[in-house]
Amino acid sequence: MKIQENIPLNDKTWFETGGPARYYAEPISIDDYKSALDFAKQQNCEIFLLGCGANILISDDGFNGLVIKSANANCEIIFAEKDENNVLVRAGAGISIQDFIDFSLDNNLTGMEEFSGIPGTIGGAIFINIHYFEFLLSQFLVCARVINKRTHEINEVSLDWFDFGYDKSKLHNNEWILYDAVFKLKKVGNIETAFARGRSAEIIRHRENKYPIDRTCGSFFQNFSPNEINDSKQIHVAYYLDKLGIKGELSVGGAMVSHMHANMIVNTGTATSADIVNLAIKMQELVKEKYGINPKPECQLIGFDKNPLK
Ligand SMILES: Cc1cc2nc3c(=O)[nH]c(=O)nc-3n(C[C@H](O)[C@H](O)[C@H](O)COP(=O)(O)OP(=O)(O)OC[C@H]3O[C@@H](n4cnc5c(N)ncnc54)[C@H](O)[C@@H]3O)c2cc1C
Repeated sequence: MKIQENIPLNDKTWFETGGPARYYAEPISIDDYKSALDFAKQQNCEIFLLGCGANILISDDGFNGLVIKSANANCEIIFAEKDENNVLVRAGAGISIQDFIDFSLDNNLTGMEEFSGIPGTIGGAIFINIHYFEFLLSQFLVCARVINKRTHEINEVSLDWFDFGYDKSKLHNNEWILYDAVFKLKKVGNIETAFARGRSAEIIRHRENKYPIDRTCGSFFQNFSPNEINDSKQIHVAYYLDKLGIKGELSVGGAMVSHMHANMIVNTGTATSADIVNLAIKMQELVKEKYGINPKPECQLIGFDKNPLK
């Protein structure tokens, strides 16, 4: 595996903004990951794990360390349980969520289609515990292999280890790399699979009508937890942003609040990462001023000296 230098990242993130990576690697095997980690240790540089870049914003100065983009995108059925209703499938950190869904449906396995149309890799999806309506990815996870960034040890860990919550997992402590994960899916017949394919297509259609699908990171801010706000029934940050009338109206440089969704920022084509950050700061200030609550970013900010959003 080659470690490359000065690699642009704007073509590797959904926002399509940001500067280059000082070093860049695409490991596949566990040994590849270990040599990437050895390299970072020798250079005494920071590491950032990149998936599809669907939930990150890279600073205009880029990332002054090693970007590791998981390239282990294999997928295999590892065990068919005796009751024949459930099957275990192992997926590499680098496989896209949609490819994993397609693999599952091709093998008459259902469950994952609820996440149809969500961009990202299995690594990024487990990091944040992707969600869509009442479904959370953690509902399907059984166990995983993780690599410790400091010691390079590989651990097989169970669901509980991740300490999953809304937008939260143990991977947030920045000590571990997800190598691959095992999911439990339901084995069904051809007719049920056809229904699941229909549901998948319907979810994608619904998403395309509701959300922007280009040059965005999806929801920029997290929803509130009920104990953070007075009106515990209204936890959706988009509700508050929407009432400010900023949809398709508020912009900074080439960054604009989507006309489709008040919690989604889009790069209209000329935005810098600084434009996106400054727009997000304005959105935060407006919500704070009017409702006295502070939305926190769901989008991960990478390569900034200090986090410009609190
Ligand atoms: C149009 C659009 C719609 C979206 N809709 C939804 C939605 O409905 N529901 C939802 O939950 N999310 C949604 N998102 C957010 C996004 O799809 C998810 O957060 C997704 O999981 C990001 O995956 P990624 O591979 O692109 O991760 P990246 O954005 O590349 O990285 C995100 C984080 O994961 C970490 N990470 C990545 N790989 C690994 C690894 N192997 N080991 C450890 N850490 C790792 C990164 O270091 C980073 O901190 C949407 C995004 C977009 C652009």
